[in-house]
Amino acid sequence: MIGYICIIDSFYHSFIAFMLINIHTHNPEKQDTHQIIYNLIIPETEEAIENFPNEEVPNTLLSAGIHPWYISESNQKLQLEKLRQLASYKDIKLIGECGLDRLKGPSLQLQEEVFIKQIRIAEEAKKPLIIHCVKCFNELISIKKIVRPKVPMILHGFNNNFHIAQTILERGFYISLGAALLNDNSNAAHLLPQIPLEKLFFETDDKDVSIQEIYEKASFILKMPLDKLIDTIFANYLEICS
Ligand SMILES: [Zn+2]
Repeated sequence: MIGYICIIDSFYHSFIAFMLINIHTHNPEKQDTHQIIYNLIIPETEEAIENFPNEEVPNTLLSAGIHPWYISESNQKLQLEKLRQLASYKDIKLIGECGLDRLKGPSLQLQEEVFIKQIRIAEEAKKPLIIHCVKCFNELISIKKIVRPKVPMILHGFNNNFHIAQTILERGFYISLGAALLNDNSNAAHLLPQIPLEKLFFETDDKDVSIQEIYEKASFILKMPLDKLIDTIFANYLEICS
């Protein structure tokens, strides 16, 4: 898993102007002009955690974390231990997705505890966090205020209103927009021009859309040439993940 990372690094540095960064995806499919960050979700059972990752890990850059939906009350220590181990690997570029979800998963108290521990792991590894947050923005902001992580925090799949966007941008979060951008009436499409370019990423997550489509739509909304947008987002990636 570690050997090929150097090859990828030198590959994309030589094609820096053409590379689209997909900051968060669960689809291992990789294309020559796209650099995906494939997400590994740490499983819940003891046996699965021990053997993880047992699936064929795609030959690409990765993020790894304990998704709030899949926190195990009985095996959370093992899950965190596994994450601590993975966090040191060079091809793991981000920690997460991790975070808070008011609609799904175990109690919010447990989600908060495990989230804070993952923030600490990211801090030790000096790697950015990719964050899942559903209807828990006040809790997220309080946690950031208390834990005060130095690593960048990216809110992924953002599709909330302007007030929430403004609040989290003021607190230094990055925002990653996904498939919602393709819908003209979405919050994501309305918000895009208000997000500082240096705080922006794009992703496909688990949606059946291409990252190219999302960049093209963003370029149209922003009235910005596609190649310039690709370069800008790639520079953001290098800034926080190199
Ligand atoms: Zn995801």
